[in-house]
Amino acid sequence: MFSWHAEMHSKKPSESFLNSFKHRIPVAAPVLADKTMAMVSECIEGTWISSAGKYITAFEQRFAEFTGSKHAIACTNGTAALHLALMGMDLREGDEVIVPALTYIATANAVRYCGATPVFADCDPLTLTLCPDSVEKNLTPRTKGIIPVHLYGHPVDMDRLNQMALTHGLWVVEDAAEAHGAKYRNRKVGSLADCATFSFYGNKIISTGEGGMITCDNDLLAAKLRLYRGQGMDPYRRYWHPVVGFNYRMTNIVAAIGLAQMERVETALAARQKVAHTYNRLLASASDQLQLPHVAEWAHHVFWMYTVILKGISEDRRDAIIQYMDHRGIETRPFFYPVNSMPPYLGQKGEVPVSASLAASGICLPTHERLTDEDQTWIGEVLIQAIEHSR
Ligand SMILES: *Cc1c(COP(=O)(O)O)cnc(C)c1O
Repeated sequence: MFSWHAEMHSKKPSESFLNSFKHRIPVAAPVLADKTMAMVSECIEGTWISSAGKYITAFEQRFAEFTGSKHAIACTNGTAALHLALMGMDLREGDEVIVPALTYIATANAVRYCGATPVFADCDPLTLTLCPDSVEKNLTPRTKGIIPVHLYGHPVDMDRLNQMALTHGLWVVEDAAEAHGAKYRNRKVGSLADCATFSFYGNKIISTGEGGMITCDNDLLAAKLRLYRGQGMDPYRRYWHPVVGFNYRMTNIVAAIGLAQMERVETALAARQKVAHTYNRLLASASDQLQLPHVAEWAHHVFWMYTVILKGISEDRRDAIIQYMDHRGIETRPFFYPVNSMPPYLGQKGEVPVSASLAASGICLPTHERLTDEDQTWIGEVLIQAIEHSR
């Protein structure tokens, strides 16, 4: 497992190398608010453990305020949030939706759940997010909407997409699963399109274990999303179901965890800025080998993941670097595979050279609040060693 040999033949073991025996550095780690236990206990003691209870509406209201939206609808996870949002847009068989090729699989899967077809657009080589030019090229008469993904915490260039949507009569659903608190031209993600979806999975910026949320301003849409979330039951007529809905309800316990998280969200976001700043400083001298995260002038990036792109390196070498770091107790992640390279989506339209190249050469470094300066120094050193070693 641990390669003594390689370390002995590099530099002298550093303090942090010795520390690495004590702990592995995970790529992500949730931090819960101090109040969490008390709030969860209250749910359990009062037996408000299911999907009714005060914490659900409180979490929804607090999250709506946080994103600057009128409504927030809590649900079971980020994928369910996407599925509900697309039901809200009346997506159906035969329709096409433009999604980025470089994203987590859930973005495309939600389109498929509705029987529609995801069409894969390419991403910008600097921000890694959906490229408006590529979206434009992929529009067809069947296109009904666009799902921009604020990938790794960097917002998408929304104005051009919204303009395109207006011109062609399309809807836009933001997939903000990775970008709680990110801003586009000083406006929070979650309030930049017809609606937006968030995830509270264990590795996300705000976590409830599993959980999701949809934000929107439209009253009718909000009512429709609540209808679909709760088995399609008419809110004024019990056991009357005008549509085929889903059970995508969040429990009161999960909402209690989420509400507690909202009290420390600014702390969580500030910690990530610090982590990114430290990596920028540590890795600046390796800029001939690494492309560090680019932040567009109109963007506030929240660094769900701190990304590095290895310049001129093959996928095999990238994977060897990941393994080298893993053997030294540092967990990293490769970028997502382009969605259209995976079996369910093979042979689907979309020329995505930028996504393909980024997917093969990108690594996410550990990005979370528990990282110490020593951890980050060690991660930086090992990354550079790993690149050398892979030659
Ligand atoms: C995590 C994630 C999702 C799905 O969220 P879950 O809560 O895991 O279902 C969707 N889209 C993106 C971009 C994600 O990163």
